[in-house]
Amino acid sequence: MTNIRVRFAPSPTGALHIGGVRTALYNYLLAKKMGGTFILRIEDTDQTRYVAGAEKYILDALQWCNISPDEGPGIGGAYGPYRQSERKDLYQKYAEKLLADGNAYYAFDTPEALDEKRAAMEAEKQVFRYDSSTRMEMVNSLTLSSEAVQKRLDSGEGYTIRLKVPREEQVQVHDLIRGTVTFQSNELDDKIMLKSDGMPTYHLANIVDDHLMEISHVIRGEEWLPSTAHHVLLYRYLGWENEMPKFAHLPLILKPSGKGKLSKRDGDKLGMPVFPIGWEAEKAEDSFRGFREYGFDPKAVLNFLAFLGWNPGTEQEIFSLEELAAAFSIDKIGKSGARFDYQKAQWFNQQYIIASEDQTLARSLRNDFGDQLAGVSDDFLASFCGLLKERVTFMTDFMEMGYYFFEPVKTYEEKPIRKKWKPEQRHNFDALTAALAAIDDFTAEHLETVIKNFIAAKELKFGEVFPMLRIALTGTMSGPDLFKMAALIGKATVLERLESGYNHFDQVKAAANS
Ligand code: GLU
Repeated sequence: MTNIRVRFAPSPTGALHIGGVRTALYNYLLAKKMGGTFILRIEDTDQTRYVAGAEKYILDALQWCNISPDEGPGIGGAYGPYRQSERKDLYQKYAEKLLADGNAYYAFDTPEALDEKRAAMEAEKQVFRYDSSTRMEMVNSLTLSSEAVQKRLDSGEGYTIRLKVPREEQVQVHDLIRGTVTFQSNELDDKIMLKSDGMPTYHLANIVDDHLMEISHVIRGEEWLPSTAHHVLLYRYLGWENEMPKFAHLPLILKPSGKGKLSKRDGDKLGMPVFPIGWEAEKAEDSFRGFREYGFDPKAVLNFLAFLGWNPGTEQEIFSLEELAAAFSIDKIGKSGARFDYQKAQWFNQQYIIASEDQTLARSLRNDFGDQLAGVSDDFLASFCGLLKERVTFMTDFMEMGYYFFEPVKTYEEKPIRKKWKPEQRHNFDALTAALAAIDDFTAEHLETVIKNFIAAKELKFGEVFPMLRIALTGTMSGPDLFKMAALIGKATVLERLESGYNHFDQVKAAANS
């Protein structure tokens, strides 16, 4: 193990968005590349936004993706506990240090008083912010005498502790992706560090924990970049500036249109998954399916996510998790937003299926569709997978697209029948059936020779015969290689289906003409 320690620090406020999974993945990849440690920390200090089941969801989602943490809640590690609510008592003393050094102050303003102030400033077309320009108009330990402050504290009156952001300073954040980003301190508000319920806010807890957990790199979404200015101040005031982690703020994930940030609601709107796995809510309308339920291979999902903001700088697109870890580096992460291209996600899934061994695919189908496949041999199933794998996007497509390998044709596409079937040619088709009945060696190659010779001898056209054979055997115009398919379903089934298919075609034409 090196001293590379990275953390994924979600708040359990609901299901983990696919962007969160990308953040987790990039952290994981850096840890694995550097022989470091990947930590999960649950940031649950905001009790009002806590959602039961969210922590379990996060762990399940990471596990499904095969990027489980090395340290975390329920996993253990030397830096626990890993849930901030269980670390509550730890933060107080850091808030007190900030107070003692004059870098924070007590604020006694009630929510009502803050609302009033906000309204008063709005009336003057100004936006209220609790900051260096307004703090001296508020009720806090900077404006009250120390006796008055003590009296309020002794009486048990509620208070918050706010960071005293300096005036007229430039705060610089060195970001591994964006370079140096400079913030004017006058633009920064006096963020609350400790809330009236005694819980720290995200900002204080996050910095204290990153320090105590010896985090070396903070890799997180771009939306946290502005807060980083406050974080740099906190590191400075707590005396940890020299050991501050390195920051890397990841580019936004954009809607498929490229316009605006991908949101949790886009999934429903666009009929595509934006969460890793499904979420069962009490109300059906709040439940949703994830990539898992849409039929994605988690390996394909990770491969897709890795490319949302990063690229290896080569043409290679298909990467195993190990290959991703080997190729990954923060300097190849881009600054500009990455478009969530669902077609590309599907393409990745397809590539993973195509690259799989036929036997592996067969085993997976047997796992999922055991009942339907009870009488089907392993060899048959593997050949079936080999024939169809170039045509499917999801594993479930195999059974939908190729059901006719296992049961009789259910429906026939009518249009090509009406267009192409000539009842007066039926005798030729029946003669071909008789020729096929005479074949002992029912292999694809032999079938192809016999059928092509027959067509030539009768001076027919391929375009008159092949589509009709295909529809009679499968019900549809699209499908895998005709001869290989026929060889696999076997002689008896082929002969039977040709007969019943042609009978159906005759009926279709008769009905159309009557
Ligand atoms: N708790 C924050 C979140 O929910 C973590 C941000 C960070 O990684 O610092 O995203």
